[in-house]
Amino acid sequence: MDFEVNYTGEQQRFRSEVRSWLEANVPPAISRRPTTDEESAANYRLRRELGRKLGAKGWLYPLAPKEYGGGGMDVDHAIVLEEEADRFELSLPPYYNSGGTLGAPTILVWGTEEQRRTLLPPIYRGEVRVWQLLSEPEAGSDLAGVRMRATRDGDEYVLNGQKVFIGSDNGTDWMWTLAATDPNGERHKNLSWFMVDARLPGITVQPMDLLGAGESSARSGQKNTIFFEDVRVPASRLVGGENNGWRVASTHLELEHGGGGHIGRNRFWHALLDYCRNTTRDGRPLVEDPDVRDTLADIYIKAQVGRLFGLRNFWLTYAKQPKSYEGPQLSLYMKLAGLWMTGAILQSIGPEALTSDPRWGSEDHFLEAQQRNGIVLMHPGGTADIQKVSMARRIGIGRATRESAGKVS
Ligand SMILES: Cc1cc2nc3c(=O)[nH]c(=O)nc-3n(C[C@H](O)[C@H](O)[C@H](O)COP(=O)(O)OP(=O)(O)OC[C@H]3O[C@@H](n4cnc5c(N)ncnc54)[C@H](O)[C@@H]3O)c2cc1C
Repeated sequence: MDFEVNYTGEQQRFRSEVRSWLEANVPPAISRRPTTDEESAANYRLRRELGRKLGAKGWLYPLAPKEYGGGGMDVDHAIVLEEEADRFELSLPPYYNSGGTLGAPTILVWGTEEQRRTLLPPIYRGEVRVWQLLSEPEAGSDLAGVRMRATRDGDEYVLNGQKVFIGSDNGTDWMWTLAATDPNGERHKNLSWFMVDARLPGITVQPMDLLGAGESSARSGQKNTIFFEDVRVPASRLVGGENNGWRVASTHLELEHGGGGHIGRNRFWHALLDYCRNTTRDGRPLVEDPDVRDTLADIYIKAQVGRLFGLRNFWLTYAKQPKSYEGPQLSLYMKLAGLWMTGAILQSIGPEALTSDPRWGSEDHFLEAQQRNGIVLMHPGGTADIQKVSMARRIGIGRATRESAGKVS
């Protein structure tokens, strides 16, 4: 069996074209971690500007259908684009946009033709960014228990409720959400899925500062609490039919729970190796300490396994291959590996890994950020426990009938 990945001449030409374009269009400042709110806003502007340029070329969402503003590319070309963006420490899109990565595929599967034509092009061209509003104070892991109400009133639904841990910094244009349209109805048959304009009267966004460290955020990993008070949403923004929201959600949950995979090097590993080469302790580089080497080797192995799971899931999904447990397997693996890494790094590097003080800590305090993120990332997109539950149900443990992966195309 030959595991070597080979690219055709045409794909190599495409790689050169992408690389030259990115070299000419990615501002170097984009990958610098902002340290003030002003820097964060400026960094976000650069990312959105780049997003719009990528969108105009069909490179922001390369796999999305051309007729709705995407690139219409095959999975191999999309992998080339992701790999080249990764060389600049970027992913596609280059900013947090769960509307494009999770919401848009959901509209493709469940939306009407009219909804696809109106909602998808602004997302795929980078004109709007969109947050996902799912979790509530009483509905995190138990997402089917959401209590936000949506009551039909003529041509509109009136939304009331509260969502937590939402989005990131620098605001949003649209929001998609799950709300109960039949609050006394049978569980899983009482919810509906809406795409909401974030400027509607009655929406309040209140920042929550959490422990995690965001990519383009000066504030550490900003999330938000969002209040809806009598927000009137046009009925045309209901996607997938009334009380069908749980089935609609199976699409984005499949992608968010690891089913969409990911492409790219493990950037953290490269930064860690550089740090260990360039930092001396007792007169010699850290990388020469046998215990540090041992930890680096273990981290490398885990990073490679995660990379390969990510590549496999990306390919399975976008080459439209059958899938079962692979999404939650990747998600569970990455969460557990990240948590293990926080302990291993602290043990081998020592307390320098815990400080953001530039006299002692790592550059851009990337180690200190990892110590926080390794813990925080156990939660978003379904906790490690929930990934284990999903995976178990798909491999035939825990339920008499095996569950299938969510529908993504
Ligand atoms: C950094 C970050 C970003 C986030 N981004 C978003 C976002 O953009 N949009 C959004 O909607 N939400 C977001 N979330 C929320 C996230 O989805 C929830 O935190 C998560 O689903 C867990 O819900 P909870 O916090 O209410 O914990 P709970 O559901 O109350 O769980 C508490 C603990 O109980 C365990 N548990 C619960 N049920 C079970 C079970 N059946 N079996 C075994 N163990 C169980 C959990 O694993 C966890 O350890 C984000 C969270 C974080 C931390």
